[in-house]
Amino acid sequence: MKSIKETIIFSLIIISICMLGTIYAIVEEKSTQQEPETISIEAPVETTASNIEPTAAPKKELSLSLTDSEIQNMIKTSRAADEAAREEYQALLNTGYVRPWNQPEEPEINIESEEEIIEETVLEEEPVSTPAPILKDSYNSKDEKWDDLFNSFSDWNGDTSSLEYYGNKYITGYDACYSCCGKSSDDPNYGVTASQSHVKMGRTCAVNGLTFGTVLYIEGIGIRIVEDRGGMKNGNIDVYCDTHAQCYELTGIYNVYILWSPDWV
Ligand SMILES: [Zn+2]
Repeated sequence: MKSIKETIIFSLIIISICMLGTIYAIVEEKSTQQEPETISIEAPVETTASNIEPTAAPKKELSLSLTDSEIQNMIKTSRAADEAAREEYQALLNTGYVRPWNQPEEPEINIESEEEIIEETVLEEEPVSTPAPILKDSYNSKDEKWDDLFNSFSDWNGDTSSLEYYGNKYITGYDACYSCCGKSSDDPNYGVTASQSHVKMGRTCAVNGLTFGTVLYIEGIGIRIVEDRGGMKNGNIDVYCDTHAQCYELTGIYNVYILWSPDWV
């Protein structure tokens, strides 16, 4: 019995010594592993080299004879060096010097987002299209309808940038006389347009190929409603006038825009 007890105690002592040895070996290995990490990443400056020297001591000194407090001191020294290097690096960054491999990404992201904001603003600032006329469901006459259509653009600001360009057109004038329209003054259809309205200076014009009720803006003349047809060619426009003198006066080449068309409804 005695010998068994002794054997057990002896074995426990041996096991304890082995475990202690293993623990010291692990600690030693860990502390030596920390060194290259500390030097290469966090301590690029020469001042840290001296701080690290104690941890970089020769391996023969890191024997089992080291006490816990000695190991703790080594770890403390290593951490202090680590912290000092980190602080020095931070101080360097604070001076405004930024290493090429540490170029911040944020400014680029900010620039992109600013461009997006500018794009959105440009889209928002696109010219507003001209107001669409509000017409009644039915009218007693075409004259009433064309007047209503014409008057619905009385508030238009004259901005042509958002308008559909019809072209650089040759404009002539016509009145209701026989030589212009082929109808004498006693003809019941005298002064009656192809759209069954009565010619009105400042409102009526004749265009082939555009729907009746199309609203034109002739730059230099004004707004006209397409009410009539004629013998014009190449999309030329005939503008109604009360006298031949007025017809001669406006004859010329003008930029023409479509303000509104019944085809858009
Ligand atoms: Zn005439």
